[in-house]
Amino acid sequence: MAAVRWLFGDQLGPHFTDDLALGPGRSTAGGTDGSRDLDRVLLVESRQVFARRRFHRAKAHLVLSAMRHRAAELGDSCMYARVGTYTEALDAVAGTKTVRHPTSHAALRFVRGRSDVSVLPPRGFATSQADFAAWADGRGTRRLLLEDFYRDARRRHGVLMDGDEPVGGRWNFDADNREPPRRAGGLDVRGPWWPTEDGVDAGVREDLDRWVRDGDVAFVGHDGPRRFAATRGEALTALEHFVAHRLAGFGPHEDAMLAGEPWMAHSLLSAPMNLGLLDPLEVVARAERAYREGAAPLASVEGFVRQVLGWRDYVWHLYWHQPPDYRRRNALQAGTPLPDWFADLDADAVQARCLSSVLAGVRDHGWVHHVPRLMVLGNWALQRGIDPGALTDWFHRSFVDGYDWVMVPNVVGMSQYADGGVMATKPYASGGSYIDRMSDYCGGCRFSPRRRVGPDACPYTAGYWAFLARNRPRLTANHRMAQPLSGLDRLRDLDALVDQETRRGTEAP
Ligand SMILES: Cc1cc2nc3c(=O)[nH]c(=O)nc-3n(C[C@H](O)[C@H](O)[C@H](O)COP(=O)(O)OP(=O)(O)OC[C@H]3O[C@@H](n4cnc5c(N)ncnc54)[C@H](O)[C@@H]3O)c2cc1C
Ligand code: SF4
Repeated sequence: MAAVRWLFGDQLGPHFTDDLALGPGRSTAGGTDGSRDLDRVLLVESRQVFARRRFHRAKAHLVLSAMRHRAAELGDSCMYARVGTYTEALDAVAGTKTVRHPTSHAALRFVRGRSDVSVLPPRGFATSQADFAAWADGRGTRRLLLEDFYRDARRRHGVLMDGDEPVGGRWNFDADNREPPRRAGGLDVRGPWWPTEDGVDAGVREDLDRWVRDGDVAFVGHDGPRRFAATRGEALTALEHFVAHRLAGFGPHEDAMLAGEPWMAHSLLSAPMNLGLLDPLEVVARAERAYREGAAPLASVEGFVRQVLGWRDYVWHLYWHQPPDYRRRNALQAGTPLPDWFADLDADAVQARCLSSVLAGVRDHGWVHHVPRLMVLGNWALQRGIDPGALTDWFHRSFVDGYDWVMVPNVVGMSQYADGGVMATKPYASGGSYIDRMSDYCGGCRFSPRRRVGPDACPYTAGYWAFLARNRPRLTANHRMAQPLSGLDRLRDLDALVDQETRRGTEAP
């Protein structure tokens, strides 16, 4: 019997359908006459998904472009349903449908609640659920440390290994990477690969315009030209370009920020990987090949492999390992609403050069790299006590690569310390001196990273001390916070600083 595979919009690569017989020439033995009916794929474009929440327009464009491109590739093998809800589309297709394990708790509840849908194991991640469970169980009460998970994954998949030993004799090349930008002498890296838009992209844009005109949906941010791969072919091209021209510079520039170089030497592969267009193991294998062929240094390749095989999979498994109410954790009891200028990506309302530049990046591309997410956007929200749930929702809607599984641990856990220390051993709060060291922002800013009180007081430097003062009772039990907290006692202007920051609140700095 022919199967119907329902694909979510983040399951678009060949590894989500490689067990199916799709299209001409792919039919194999099975029927009484030796032939087998061809399987089919169901893709559901639900307008209600976009009507419910205010997404970045570039994200809506990318996801719809990728789905429609996939449908075009599959041709007659694809049933493409443009409907209000998933339920409508599923009810219209008789019989049992199979689906690969979806990527959010809500979607998993939904598919499990339907008697006509059978759920298959997930694809698109390197470490299986069983391997992660065995690893986590084996740790007993010890923390689920990324470093240990990553080394285990390297061994299990034989990535960058010489026998039982890590290539180069070390697991970690962080010390060789992450140079401050000035020491690296600016950026000496070829720019990213950009896609060429086609009629499918134009069709999506027309539809988005119409939906907005009809009053059905509202978006934030600018869209176009499309910056991220939307097809398997584009994703492979983007990967090849990154490995050939940018991977070598990845390590040294990994944590640096330059006002005129938003992309630095990053891969821009999170969006295609999260759409399911690339499998992380093929990405890792390609990077390793570059090292083995002498095309990229080990420090950069290891740094990149650590992100994909380590962090990406670690975050995925933590999402499922924690109870579904993890998303509502709020260990620092932060309840301040997100201000409108932040929610609306109004970069022009902000004078702080770092925050204005990063917010402009989100507005224009729906993407900034890891350090601006963590140390500029997340750091500001943490210091101001922004509600972590509202911030997670904002990140999810505003970033082209944002999905529930990846946003919840990264925002609730890593960036806001709202899980009380499951993901990070201490809050990622820092003052302007960190931003000054890792970027060229402060030189042209109206604030000074060294001032904490007065009209020139850097909002990050002052915000850092105000954050520590406010959260002191909640952080004293954390021995890694002992030194920063003891610094508070040496500040003779603490009262004036706290007063200043209370008055500044969440107004645009
Ligand atoms: C507050 C916050 C929110 C984030 N939200 C997302 C998100 O919604 N989607 C997302 O894919 N990543 C997210 N990240 C992780 C990381 O910032 C992005 O994966 C990365 O910036 C994407 O750009 P890139 O593809 O050029 O990455 P590169 O710097 O080239 O890194 C290579 C790959 O490593 C993976 N990776 C690295 N770190 C992480 C991580 N912490 N979690 C998951 N994958 C990781 C990504 O797949 C990325 O493509 C977030 C990080 C923070 C601090
Ligand atoms: S001085 Fe402060 S606000 Fe200005 S760019 Fe530096 S860190 Fe950002």
